[in-house]
Amino acid sequence: MRMDNDIEKILFTSEDIKTAVQKLGQKLTKDYQDKNPVVVGILRGAAPFMIDLVRAMDCYLEIDFIDVSSYGDATESSGAVTILKDIDSDVTGRHVLLVEDIVDTGRTLEKLLELFSGRGAASVKVCSLLDKPERRIANVTADYVGLSVPNEFVVGYGLDFRQQYRNLPYIGVLKPEIYQD
Ligand code: 5GP
Repeated sequence: MRMDNDIEKILFTSEDIKTAVQKLGQKLTKDYQDKNPVVVGILRGAAPFMIDLVRAMDCYLEIDFIDVSSYGDATESSGAVTILKDIDSDVTGRHVLLVEDIVDTGRTLEKLLELFSGRGAASVKVCSLLDKPERRIANVTADYVGLSVPNEFVVGYGLDFRQQYRNLPYIGVLKPEIYQD
């Protein structure tokens, strides 16, 4: 059974995503020229975006990853954010750019911003591929946003439902019967 059959509608095609990533890359290239940032991808959802984004940035940078759990297998945030794998880099005095797949309630980001500011970074900014502003609970905003999404649970290009669909090249909404199983 092909994954495409589980998708009700496509919100962003791979071309839409590519265009958004290139735009972000150009802006970040300007803003981080001569800053040698530590670009931190938030696993696992941001992995495909992160890999495309850093290749769209034409400046010296380092990459690192952090793994946090905020969702489990449900489609609603639990509110609790746990660090499963920390970064390896020392960010003292460094410019940190956090790369997120989507900012939903904002709780994950709030927690990570606190964490990195407490580690003495020179600056901490956030680049999120998607933003779901209607759902915001925490008072945080991403500094760089690729695309805005309506209040729907989306999958693809890193975003999962029960760990599946991360490898879809586009971003879409699942058919309701998939959740009901
Ligand atoms: P927040 O803490 O902002 O509520 O949630 C952040 C995390 O929840 C995201 O990094 C992502 O893993 C997950 N998430 C939020 N909204 C969605 C969504 O629409 N689809 C998927 N697949 N994950 C989401």
